[in-house]
Amino acid sequence: MNKRTFLKLLAMLVSNRVVSPMFAWATGDRLTNWAGNLVYGTDRLYSADSLQQVRNYVKKESSLKVLGTRHCFNNIADSRYNLLSLKPMDEVVELDTHAATVTVGAGITYGQLSPYLHSKGFALHNLASLPHISVAGACSTATHGSGEKNGNLATAVSGLEFVTAAGDLVKLSRQQDRETFQGAVVGLGAVGVITKLTLDIQPTFMMQQYVYENLPLDEVKGHFDAIESSAYSVSLFTDWQKQRMNEVWIKSRVENRRSFAAGPTFFGAKLATKNLHPIAELSPENCTEQMGVPGPWFERLPHFRMGFTPSAGKELQSEYFVPRQHAVEAILAVERLRDLIGPTLMISEIRTVAADNLWLSPCYKQPCVTIHFTWKQDWPAVSKLLRVIEKELAPFNARPHWGKLFNTSPVALKSIYEKLPDFIELSTKYDPHRKFRNEFLNKNIFGR
Ligand SMILES: Cc1cc2nc3c(=O)[nH]c(=O)nc-3n(C[C@H](O)[C@H](O)[C@H](O)COP(=O)(O)OP(=O)(O)OC[C@H]3O[C@@H](n4cnc5c(N)ncnc54)[C@H](O)[C@@H]3O)c2cc1C
Repeated sequence: MNKRTFLKLLAMLVSNRVVSPMFAWATGDRLTNWAGNLVYGTDRLYSADSLQQVRNYVKKESSLKVLGTRHCFNNIADSRYNLLSLKPMDEVVELDTHAATVTVGAGITYGQLSPYLHSKGFALHNLASLPHISVAGACSTATHGSGEKNGNLATAVSGLEFVTAAGDLVKLSRQQDRETFQGAVVGLGAVGVITKLTLDIQPTFMMQQYVYENLPLDEVKGHFDAIESSAYSVSLFTDWQKQRMNEVWIKSRVENRRSFAAGPTFFGAKLATKNLHPIAELSPENCTEQMGVPGPWFERLPHFRMGFTPSAGKELQSEYFVPRQHAVEAILAVERLRDLIGPTLMISEIRTVAADNLWLSPCYKQPCVTIHFTWKQDWPAVSKLLRVIEKELAPFNARPHWGKLFNTSPVALKSIYEKLPDFIELSTKYDPHRKFRNEFLNKNIFGR
């Protein structure tokens, strides 16, 4: 199928508004992830609506994995035995305006939480490209948005409650349990079943979003820092063709009436005259409002709107975190592969993320640039390409996104995550008999 026909078909699929009830997850009679590229290893799915139920299921089963909103592209959430959903535990437990924190049940999504916070006068510091994902699942994989000064979503976590393999409830806080806490937040589902999270909040704010088209690659080479620091959150979208970034998405806070001064050009790119989808051929109906129209933070920080299919739908994703100082070199290394990756790629996105101190965060102690790939759903082709891309990015110690597709070897992962041995010790303490492990964890973390 040529690219034009492919995009036309995709446009028809994406334009359908989706309302997906909780358990309308199955393709045929099998349970799948969101993208449909993974059939989970079991259809045995429990649903817990209370802490007691979680404890009962954990005690009853010898092997159990928690499913969030199923938006990972690999088998990180998979189980051959039992899956547990905490979707019914999606309440706001406490809004502490004095401490500027909100405590939520682990089943809540950002799409549910954000409008609530805004209605109470509060905001989160950042969001991913889509609001559809669960807070617990997103933080467990170090999901991120963009912004030089913005840590990933897990950096907002200040408290965590989880059920251990023995069925005990553990409460950790950033203030009191420093090291253990830093190890447990990005837990990849290996430490325990998270039942509650406490997140830092701040006064609500308004944002504007502008999109520019055709940013010359030479400008990226010469002015990457200035481009990325020009606003609160900046994303570059590219198909790597024609020596340019197809689109630049600039999200700025409207504060004291001062905001990003949107001129007709931005480092040689031209201000868009209509809303755009990151894949320009697709309808922007699914995307958050652009053209500088002010709106609340949760309707501008994500690229995609709640209630609509995010991204393209039928796709695969992979992403690599490169230490910030190698940003331009790494971008140019991928750009040199343009002819190879072009036929399988839908779009790439380049973002920046601030450093943090969460052990398994790809931004542990290092600010990063992230290079993301939305691929056609062709795993044999993607798999080959990932090997080539990973070879090119290896000199920069690139770390793959935990929730997306990668081929990075367990040996390489060990060498680029200095806290991996401590994480193994920590998760073994709470799960000595490997109840929460699965193939993904056995291969990539525990080396079995
Ligand atoms: C269209 C699309 C756009 C995306 N955009 C971004 C983006 O902008 N930035 C980014 O970084 N990522 C992005 N992702 C990736 C995605 O957000 C992450 O992979 C995220 O982890 C998905 O959360 P989930 O709740 O669906 O997790 P799931 O896939 O359901 O689970 C992920 C992990 O969390 C664990 N988990 C979930 N809940 C719990 C719990 N209560 N206790 C313990 N462990 C738990 C699971 O066991 C598993 O290990 C995108 C994905 C899609 C499909």
